[in-house]
Amino acid sequence: MRCIVVDDDPSILSLVGALLNRHGHDVDMAESLHELEYDPNRLNVDLMVLDYRLGRSTGMEVIRLLVTSSIQSHVILLSGAERELVLGTVELGRAYGLNMLGVLEKPLDGSALLRIVDQLQASLRTISSEHIREALQNGHFMLAYQPKFCLSTGQVTGVEALARWQDPELGPVPPDSFISVAEKDGQITPLTWQLVDQALAQQYRWRRAGILVDMAINLSPVLLETDDFLAQFLNRLTVHDVMPESLTLELTETRGISDMDRAIVELVRLRDLGFDIAIDDFGTGNASMLQLYRLPFTQLKIDRAFVADCHDDDKAESIIHMIIDLAHRLKIEVVAEGIETLEQGHLLKQLGCHSGQGYLFSRPMHAGQFETW
Ligand code: C2E
Ligand code: CA
Ligand code: CA
Repeated sequence: MRCIVVDDDPSILSLVGALLNRHGHDVDMAESLHELEYDPNRLNVDLMVLDYRLGRSTGMEVIRLLVTSSIQSHVILLSGAERELVLGTVELGRAYGLNMLGVLEKPLDGSALLRIVDQLQASLRTISSEHIREALQNGHFMLAYQPKFCLSTGQVTGVEALARWQDPELGPVPPDSFISVAEKDGQITPLTWQLVDQALAQQYRWRRAGILVDMAINLSPVLLETDDFLAQFLNRLTVHDVMPESLTLELTETRGISDMDRAIVELVRLRDLGFDIAIDDFGTGNASMLQLYRLPFTQLKIDRAFVADCHDDDKAESIIHMIIDLAHRLKIEVVAEGIETLEQGHLLKQLGCHSGQGYLFSRPMHAGQFETW
């Protein structure tokens, strides 16, 4: 990737520069706003690592320069003591539509920086339909399992199966960069069936080993619109000897449901058979009140965007409070995703959230790791 490091501290410039260089990135460096004003084209990179305090100017001014030059690079901000101001700058950047990746505190943790850089690189890689076709043929799609916990007892209540693609040439490809491509070109159907088979086979093995966990499977609404969806699912349940009562279907991107009436019929049938049905990412543009109102969900998952901010942002807390309250009134289960800190966990429990998942408890794991865990 093309990167620029902007800091008035030469030791940071050389540290970050060397780190990125060693990982194969092209790095440019600047010590002041002035240098960049002189040649704004230098800002035209994939990633900018920007110090907030730049001598007499600040990162805020560099952000403004990006906006006035209509440049869309990704930005990581480095922060010293002035955390509030830095967070304000992140907000400003986002409001202008910039890709603000986050804040790193000084002294700089090199591995944290590289984690963000790797994620960015993976997400910038464009995945083609051909890539997906090959991966499907070669069996490169796997599942990782993330446990869900009851927030009051701490007991594991289930696992969510998440698609993983470890490609020999491309490296790890995150779901966010291939699910939407597969949804557009129709390969989401064979991909989902491959993953459903893996999940059901796994659940059968676990049951035989005495591990009884509910399994949640992510489902694009497109699948509900394929002709033989239900028949295929039932057939697979028979083959793998798994009961619908032990499965939850998490519906992502419910906004994308084009035929609501048909979706209602399908979901009611699934519920009658004993499946649990969750509305995923609730609160985002993809999952709204209207879908919650019309479709027969038994579970609501609060999107991790609200959870991430709930402890230090009153607005996020109010929204979460309202969502939990809504779930209670509708008498459906409410699950929070993306719980990373104890504070978030406590707050959610206090607000009456039933269950949760997140890095605080466990990252998604391969089946073998899950068993040992
Ligand atoms: P999702 O359904 O909302 O899944 C939760 C995502 O949050 C997962 O990302 C998970 O790894 C991540 N996560 C879990 N705990 C934490 C945490 O504490 N902090 C943070 N920052 N993240 C956490 P992942 O695996 O990258 O999946 C991204 C999205 O891709 C999923 O979001 C889901 O919408 C979609 N997806 C994944 N697997 C499938 C699949 O098999 N089929 C379909 N249709 N979509 C899938
Ligand atoms: Ca999900
Ligand atoms: Ca989510």
